[in-house]
Formats: sequence, C-alpha cells, structure tokens
Amino acid sequence: MDRCSFCGREKRDTNLLIAGISGHICDSCIEQAHGILQEELKKNSGFDVSQIKLSKPGEIKSFLDQYVIGQDYAKKYISVAVYNHYKRLVHVKNPDKSDVEIEKSNIVLVGETGTGKTLLARTIAKMLHVPFTIVDATVLTEAGYVGEDIESILTRLLQVADYNVEAAEKGIVFIDELDKIARKSDNPSITRDVSGEGVQQGLLKLLEGSVVNVPPQGGRKHPDQKMIPVNTKNILFICGGAFDGIEKKIGQRLNTKTVGYTAVKEADKVDRNNLLQYVTPQDLKSYGLIPEIVGRLPVLTYLDPLDEEALRNILTEPRNAIIKQYERLFDMDGIKLTLEDKVLDYIVKKSLEFKLGARGLRSICEAIMIDAMFELPSQEVREIHLDLEYAKEKLEKTDVKRLRVA
Ligand code: ADP
Repeated sequence: MDRCSFCGREKRDTNLLIAGISGHICDSCIEQAHGILQEELKKNSGFDVSQIKLSKPGEIKSFLDQYVIGQDYAKKYISVAVYNHYKRLVHVKNPDKSDVEIEKSNIVLVGETGTGKTLLARTIAKMLHVPFTIVDATVLTEAGYVGEDIESILTRLLQVADYNVEAAEKGIVFIDELDKIARKSDNPSITRDVSGEGVQQGLLKLLEGSVVNVPPQGGRKHPDQKMIPVNTKNILFICGGAFDGIEKKIGQRLNTKTVGYTAVKEADKVDRNNLLQYVTPQDLKSYGLIPEIVGRLPVLTYLDPLDEEALRNILTEPRNAIIKQYERLFDMDGIKLTLEDKVLDYIVKKSLEFKLGARGLRSICEAIMIDAMFELPSQEVREIHLDLEYAKEKLEKTDVKRLRVA
C-alpha cells in the first residue's frame, strides 16, 4: 500500500500521491511544504518591510546628488515620492485609528532623451529596500499581438523579488518610454492601435490598483501556465518619457493664454529654451495619453536639458563619472592618466555639436582613448597625459556617424 512518506496517509485518503525515488508525497503535504518555503523565502529575500529604515527625502536627494548632475526639481519629487511610498507601506502594515487612507502618487518624468531619467531610476534602485524593476514601454503590446503583454511588467517585479508576492506587491516599477504608447492619432475612434491606446488601457489596470494574474515566466500567456495573482494597489509606478515635440503643445497652450495685459506680462517671463518646465497634465493628454492614465499619474515633473556646464560636470563629478572610470582602468595597469582641462571642454563641445547629449560623452571619450587603451598596457609606461592636440587628432580620425548612440 502506497503511503505519503511525510504524513503517512494512505493513497486512498489523499487527492494525489506523487511518487519519488524512494518515497511518496501527498497533495496536502506539498501544500504545507510550499507554505514553509514561502515563509523562508520571505525571510531570506531581504525585502522585509519591517526592516525598512525610513530615509528622509533630503537624504534620498543627497544620495541621488552623488550620481546625477542637476535635475534638482525631478530629484526632489522622486525623493518625496519614495519617502511617501515607504510611509504608506508602514501605514498599510499598522493602520492607525484615523481612517485616512494614504493613496499612492505615481510619478511621470518628462525630459529629453539622455538627460538622466533612467539614471535617476537606476540610482534610486541602489538605495531601495523594496523590489525594483525598469521596463521599457515600447515592447508592450495589447494581448494577442506580437510583443509582451502588459502583465510581463509584473513578472519582472516578481522575479527580482524571488517570487515573493508580498514583497513584489510593495515594489517600485520604472516604466521607461511611456510616450511611445501615446495615441498616434487624435482620432480616438481608430479601432486597432496595437501599441497605443490598447496598451494604455492595459496599463491603466496596473496603475489603478487591481489584482492582476501574472505569468511567472513572462512572455506570452499560455493557457496551461499557472498564473500568480498580484495586487498592484501598493506598487509605486514611476514613468519616464521624452515626449518628443511636446514643447510645441506647451508653447501653443502658453500662447493661447496670452490674452490681456497681465497675461502678456507673464508670457514675457516664459523661458522659451526650456518649455518642459511648464508641462501640465493637459499637455500629456494632447500628446496622446488617455485622460485616465494621466489621472493615475498625479505627480508630473520634468528634467532640464543639459547645458555645457552640466555636461562638463557629468564627465568628472558623479561618483562613477566617465573620466573617473578611465582613470581607474588605467590605474589597474599601474598607469596614471591625466587630461588637460581643455580636453574635457573639447569633449563637451563636440558632444553638443554632434547633438549627442550626455550619451555622446562616453562614445567621444572612447574614440579618444581607444588607441591608448590598446597600446599602453603592453608598454612600460607609468603615466599618460592627454592634451588637446592628441584628443583632436584621435577624434578627427573617427567617423562621426559611428559615434551615434542608441
Ligand atoms: P534618459 O533615460 O533620460 O534618456 P539616461 O538616464 O539613460 O537618459 O542617460 C544616458 C547617460 O547619460 C547616463 O547613463 C549617464 O551616463 C549620462 N547622464 C545623463 N544625464 C545625466 C545627469 N543628469 N547626470 C549624470 N549623468 C547623466
């Protein structure tokens, strides 16, 4: 007579008895073992909310300052949002007598490409004690089309949380390139807009907080795949996007308002070089986000375009600044690298000239350094000083097209 080797129950007393090499296990023991496993995973996954040390917004911002140049406005908003997210989690765990429910404040960051949106997200991830993931909205499509289902966003979160559902439900998701799922046409009656409105509708479900069935391995849903229900109520969503061309809409809006004497005076003060700072939810709607999505992203903030000074600082200031990385690389070969200040100015100037922004800094540096990095390690050199002439010579040899960055 086959019996469960754990509880001793006979086969006929169980719903299912699975045979192993030298024993059996019944369905209820599997369930019990699963519970134990979940408890253990929770303990070991490092995402124990009760262990969270509440960093003050100022501390969070100082941390961001070490890695991200400028963008004070966005940093402030993110710091407060993360701080409040933690506070909500504590509140959810120990609700007080007042029945004030703290709602989450999902954020949307608007800023030109290469101004630090993803960098901000990655940096914040370094200091978080909750599961965090970055997903790219461009790969998302409506269910049934080629691409990833919306639910795959949560698969990623589950994966970083080691499938600890409770931890994932308190996580933070950064959705990059939100603008790419904007409605392409102003005509809302367009029936099939594979990567547009349908995706927004799907995303809305996640943003507003509901129980979503998540495929544990991501990708397409298979009918026989066991789904994991995840409640998104306490997940914080931070969205980023370049919203190319939104300045035009902001400009138009600002212009139409300039009627009457005071308005004209206000219009004089408008900084036409940085219109993003005036972005409002209304502009996101005119760009093609459905009102419901805009409504679920109550915190709207922007990133400044990077000027010459910011780019110059990016080269040398952050904790893992590009130049510091080269110095370290050479240092590992016992070579001391120094650069003439003019070289740094030159790199910045070229990056602006080629319209490559901050991303161009690295590819330009790489073009200048490649020969030195190739040759010096096998030579008996202890020091190298790069001057402007050297940098110019190397960069001029490079095909500018090859500097283009994704
Ligand atoms: P976005 O997500 O806004 O398109 P990224 O955050 O990916 O831009 O920025 C691209 C790269 O440029 C980063 O990896 C970083 O090296 C650099 N960078 C951009 N903005 C900043 C910034 N404000 N401070 C420091 N580095 C920056």
